[in-house]
Amino acid sequence: MSSLISQTFRARLQHIFKLGTSRTSVKEEARRIRVVNIVSFATGILVAVYGIAFHLLLHSLLILIPAVFVFCPAFFCMIWLNSRGYFNASRIGLQAIFILIILYYGAILGRVTEVQLLAVFLMSVALLVSRPQEKAQRIICVSMPIICLVALEFNYYFHIVEPLPLSAQTQNMYRWMVMPVVLFLNYLAISLYQRNIMDLLRVLRSRNTALVRSRNEVLDQRMQLAKYSEELEDLVHDRTMALQTANDAKTRFISELSHEIRNPLNAILGISELLTDALGQPDSEARIREMARNLHATSHNILELVNSVLELSKIEAGKTDEVKMSDFSLREWLHNAVNIYQSIASKKSVFIHLEIDSRFPEMIIGDKLMLGQVVNNLLSNSIKFTPAGKNIRVRCFHNLRNMFIQVCDEGRGIAAQQLNAIFKPFEQGDSDVYREFGGSGLGLAIAKRKVELMGGSIEVSSQQGEGTNFLIALPLQVSTENGPQAAGELPLLPAGAKVVVMDDNAIDHTIMKHFLARIGIAQAGFAKNGLEGIELARQMQPDVILMDLHMPVMSGRETFFNLRQEELLKHIPIVAVSSDAFKEQEQEYIAMGMDGYIRKPVEIRVLHGVLEKLLYRAPNAARGAQSHAC
Ligand code: ADP
Repeated sequence: MSSLISQTFRARLQHIFKLGTSRTSVKEEARRIRVVNIVSFATGILVAVYGIAFHLLLHSLLILIPAVFVFCPAFFCMIWLNSRGYFNASRIGLQAIFILIILYYGAILGRVTEVQLLAVFLMSVALLVSRPQEKAQRIICVSMPIICLVALEFNYYFHIVEPLPLSAQTQNMYRWMVMPVVLFLNYLAISLYQRNIMDLLRVLRSRNTALVRSRNEVLDQRMQLAKYSEELEDLVHDRTMALQTANDAKTRFISELSHEIRNPLNAILGISELLTDALGQPDSEARIREMARNLHATSHNILELVNSVLELSKIEAGKTDEVKMSDFSLREWLHNAVNIYQSIASKKSVFIHLEIDSRFPEMIIGDKLMLGQVVNNLLSNSIKFTPAGKNIRVRCFHNLRNMFIQVCDEGRGIAAQQLNAIFKPFEQGDSDVYREFGGSGLGLAIAKRKVELMGGSIEVSSQQGEGTNFLIALPLQVSTENGPQAAGELPLLPAGAKVVVMDDNAIDHTIMKHFLARIGIAQAGFAKNGLEGIELARQMQPDVILMDLHMPVMSGRETFFNLRQEELLKHIPIVAVSSDAFKEQEQEYIAMGMDGYIRKPVEIRVLHGVLEKLLYRAPNAARGAQSHAC
């Protein structure tokens, strides 16, 4: 029961001390309000109690009335001011009441009032309840008690207000009673300070903990950031490497290609010059025919090179070095190559001799284009570095596992110390070579790489001033295919087969007419655009339509869809003939439903192959085989 009462009492007290604190969100301000409330409450009660007690002791209303009716209510009034939100007024009021108490009781009770101790208490309270930034106010509050003390001393000295006449015993009693009160008040001030300091320490500690926590968080974030940035760096590095590889592959491919194209282009230029010279000369027909054949073969070389460039997607993927194996006759190929280069060599009276071992297999399996690039390179170098009247020998032989191609010349030769360097990119033996012969120094580097890609090796030996000897060794794969067929020997296609050609280019009409006649197709109709072509197809009812895709009036696509919609024409196989060079476009046309695709410039063999497949196919099966690429 008693604990319940004390709890309730304490709760009430706490309530009084907290009056007004809810009006502010600033913790410091709330603390100051609380101090004012506590001090006002405690001193209010003490003043009343002591007022009554002294009255009983001294029987003086001068003590009782101000204590009970002025000072005590004034103290409670300060609490009320706080509860109303007049914090400053209550703070200043509190100080003022204390000053009045000191002055009043100091004057009427004389030196027995422990005014010095009260002044100390007052100063402490002044510092507790004023804000640190209110400097002037703090100075005033602290100096007021001192002024009071001085004023009282003045009064005692000059006897302005006479103190009450008190006996020595009363004075002692009075002092004994006042002393604990003043000490208590000072204790109150000190404990409030202590509480303040504890609060501050707690705040500091929690701030410190928060700081440590946020520092740890920052460290964590920093570590995470460092990890992300490391990952990002790795990613960027990988991407850069990938890009670099793709870019290197592109650069290498382009420089190699331009070099490779230069060789056959030189041949073409040389042959055309020779052709011009030969025209009009007596008995030149056989020579001109030979040169035209060479011209054709060389142009074909370039065409193959250009075709290889067109596979752009492979370049992007860095896969330009794919070895493409096919069956071919190395004998025939070497004959052609030597023939072509002989035309150039003859211009400077250099002679190329081809010696192929009679036991060399008729057909082999290999990458014709790559091998061509290598041999062309060696031959054009030999011609370049061999002086007039000298010879170049090309030999071809084999053993059980390898085949060998040897290119020997009687040229200027290569100095021993330069023999290794010539296979490095952009190396040209000695600097005079570039001045005299031009070139990029890439040819042999390319040749070496290509030979190695094909699984072989290339070696050089040379005697300066006597000649150079290149030997290529490649794994031998003998093919079981039959020997080569000349274009003229292509089997004729079924007599009576009819073809409609739609193309806006008149020259292409002539070429196509010539090719078709050579493979046995005499019934061919020609239209300049899709509209004319459809009309012609209606009249001729052809077995196959060869259609250019870029035509005026009606484009290839539109024509294709119109043809597919006509009952009488929709069964006719349609082959796209186009200079759209990319593999993707070819696939697109086949996906559209075309029966075949021939890339321009048209090769008679390819044309023959495509038509042969379509003409010997059962007519009804034509639609079912739409996705077949030629
Ligand atoms: P380029 O394309 O400039 O001819 P190559 O890589 O084909 O470059 O040749 C590199 C160098 O090797 C030439 O500059 C030349 O000094 C030397 N070389 C190559 N082939 C022969 C040869 N048959 N006779 C003499 N020197 C040659």
